[in-house]
Amino acid sequence: MCRTDLHIVDGELSEPKLPLVPGHQIVGTVVAIGGKVTGFSEGQRVGIPWLGSTCGTCSFCTSARENLCLSARFTGYHVDGGFAQFAAADARFAFPLPADFSDLQVAPLLCGGLIGYRAFRMAGPDARRIGFYGFGSAAHILAQVCRYQGKDVYAFTRPGDDSAKDLALRLGSSWAGDSGQRPPVPLDAAIIFAPDGALVPLALQAVDRGGAVICAGIHMSDIPSFPYDILWEERSVRSVANLTRADATEFLALAPKVPVRTEIEVFSLGRVNEALTRLRAGKITGSAVIDLSTLS
Ligand SMILES: [Zn+2]
Ligand SMILES: [Zn+2]
Repeated sequence: MCRTDLHIVDGELSEPKLPLVPGHQIVGTVVAIGGKVTGFSEGQRVGIPWLGSTCGTCSFCTSARENLCLSARFTGYHVDGGFAQFAAADARFAFPLPADFSDLQVAPLLCGGLIGYRAFRMAGPDARRIGFYGFGSAAHILAQVCRYQGKDVYAFTRPGDDSAKDLALRLGSSWAGDSGQRPPVPLDAAIIFAPDGALVPLALQAVDRGGAVICAGIHMSDIPSFPYDILWEERSVRSVANLTRADATEFLALAPKVPVRTEIEVFSLGRVNEALTRLRAGKITGSAVIDLSTLS
């Protein structure tokens, strides 16, 4: 389960196919293959992420930016997704998964990991002190990648969210505090995963000269106005949208090397609404995962 599923269910994104089966971090076993599909076999485990299909011909697709494709179709949004026992997918956008992970442990890599990793790379290779605003599914995966690459992690959580702070520190973060607090040192980059626009000026004040603030969610509340002073000195604000297949290939090869260990809370398929409610309330530590093999 991803926060985007919640935005879709809550009507905050404007173009879902309805009725719709949400879910875009699908782990499953191939049970049938279309006649033109190559490269997969029945019984093989595959992952199906958010990028469901692209046109392949627009200016974005032909410039290694298929994440911005004008005709992209997204899993669990434009096409039925994974909160179900069976799903159909375009094989060109499905991925073999690293064997080191169980089905439940690997699922959060497919969006929190992949799109989180795209946001992380936007921070630039030289960024050493990285802040995460919102320490949930994506940040807890990315924190492990940061530590693997020798970077320092600063975790900002909702005030009072001690379990997220505990998780951040357990994963090697240098500091964990409330989102309104300043970090003990200026950051080189901050990635905002929480859908709260008020975090943008806070993050700008937490980054050093030349620092980047990267908004990694698909939906965010309005950003309040702020003085130019906090953007001055070559600070930047940008967003990250979706993923490319190259992002997926790169991250799925990296994750077993770290190795990433996902912290998951498992719900049966019959309890998917309860999982959404807990995610909405900020009560999930790590990632919520739906076990499609159990209904109750
Ligand atoms: Zn997602
Ligand atoms: Zn395209």
